[in-house]
Amino acid sequence: MNESEKIEIHVLEDDPLVARTLTRTLEEYGFNCRWFRTAAELLASVKQRPPALCIVDLGLPDRDGLDVVRELQQKVGCGVMILTGRGFLSDRVIGLEFGADDYVVKPFEPRELVARVRSILRRYGHRGAESRQGGRRVACFEGWQFDTASFALTDPEGGEEVLGAAEAHLLQALLEHPNRIQNRQQLSRTPDLLPYDRSIDVRISRLRRKLRDDPHSPRLVKTVYGVGYLLAVNVTWTSK
Ligand code: CA
Repeated sequence: MNESEKIEIHVLEDDPLVARTLTRTLEEYGFNCRWFRTAAELLASVKQRPPALCIVDLGLPDRDGLDVVRELQQKVGCGVMILTGRGFLSDRVIGLEFGADDYVVKPFEPRELVARVRSILRRYGHRGAESRQGGRRVACFEGWQFDTASFALTDPEGGEEVLGAAEAHLLQALLEHPNRIQNRQQLSRTPDLLPYDRSIDVRISRLRRKLRDDPHSPRLVKTVYGVGYLLAVNVTWTSK
């Protein structure tokens, strides 16, 4: 792959050590990275040529990182991932509310970072973001199985039901990031669906019913009030 075909990622981080680790990791995995130390520099550059994704540290010298997230989301429309320190849970929640696609906690594990980056890029439709295994994948969780190609959901007793496309995409989005909060925007793959659109909640209710999850006290698909949902299961993926 030559330089011009590489996916462009901008890193906004004032700590040079963290920035270097980030850009090195991403470059090892074939991404093209540019490092910005201040929000002003990043915002000036993205207006010239928007990257596929910006990774934004929330603790910046010149601007509130959350403002930057909002500005990128509203004016640039690229993917946004936030970087936060350990223990800053409220930052992550607010970051997702401000429109970030995902977050990574410092110190990060390189492979996890790359998996999250690829996941955002897939959501934004960038080719080349796929990891090697493509095609048909099956998720196994709590005795259930879900086939991403046929949308077939198999219950622990072996009964099979084929989900509609909207529910299937929602379930897949939850299964891709188990045990993590996902906001409505992340869960709605339909671009015209607004993040606060109630239809996401309606789809979640239907999905709970299909997974036999108690709507009053859900065990699998948990509600995180004011933010989104979380799938509380361990998931094993296999490729077919
Ligand atoms: Ca910082």
